Order: sequence, then C-alpha cells, then structure tokens
Amino acid sequence: MSDPRPEFCFSDSPSMEDIRRLQSRFAAERDWNQFHQPRNLLLALVGEVGELAELFQWRGEVSEGLPDWTPSQKESLRHELSDVLIYLLELAEKCHVDLPRAVLTKMELNAKKYPVDRVQGSAKKYTEYGEEEQASSGGPQQGPG
Ligand SMILES: [Mg+2]
Repeated sequence: MSDPRPEFCFSDSPSMEDIRRLQSRFAAERDWNQFHQPRNLLLALVGEVGELAELFQWRGEVSEGLPDWTPSQKESLRHELSDVLIYLLELAEKCHVDLPRAVLTKMELNAKKYPVDRVQGSAKKYTEYGEEEQASSGGPQQGPG
C-alpha cells in the first residue's frame, strides 16, 4: 500500500557526535560538569520531557505535521524537543553509552521482537504474541483486539 504523504526527513548534520561535542564544550565553558552527573542529567531530561508534554496537554489528538499549531507553538516544540535531545545525549555521554551504535543494536533487537510477518498492522506488545502462539495453533493474528 503506498503512502501519499510527502516524506519528512532530517538534515544530514549535525550528527549525534557533533551535538555531544557542542554540549560538552557548552558545559565545560560554564564549569557545569560539577553538576552534570548522570542522575542530575536524567532528572533534567525528565523535566524537559514534562515541558514537551505541556505543549500537547489538553489539546486532544494532534495531526501529523501539526497543521493547526501557530508558528510560535511550533518554535516552542522545536526548543523542547531540542532540550530533550541535548540532555539525552549528555546523559549517554556521561554513562559512556555510544548512543548511535546502541540505537542501531536496539533497533535490530526490536525487529527480531516484532517480525513484520507476525505483527504488521497490530499494536500488541511482543509478549502477547507469545501467548497467542501457545493459545492457537493457527497463523498470526490480524490486528489488535
Ligand atoms: Mg525546556
């Protein structure tokens, strides 16, 4: 089935490593590494996720591309998403997690956990597919329900 929507994509740069390096310099120049331990960075990340959630709070469902949002609301969204990413990358750095590699590994695991031929069009969690296999001897279930 073809998707008539134009495909959205990111810019090629900066990379995760570029952002990590820029944020590392930003913190070092301000002598903030004394505060940027993993636990504090996690709490800051959660706070920024809260600020991101506030933008969506009480609005009901929102369409892809946010066609009903004002330019100012979209700017706030760009800021909060960026805050989340900056803290996420700094947390990964301080935990010595090579996030670009880790995310590829995790996506490979997700693909094994959710094989296309078993889960297409379904929103069930992977644990529910195991139960289905034991409960029925037939093929994969189609769709949620
Ligand atoms: Mg913020």
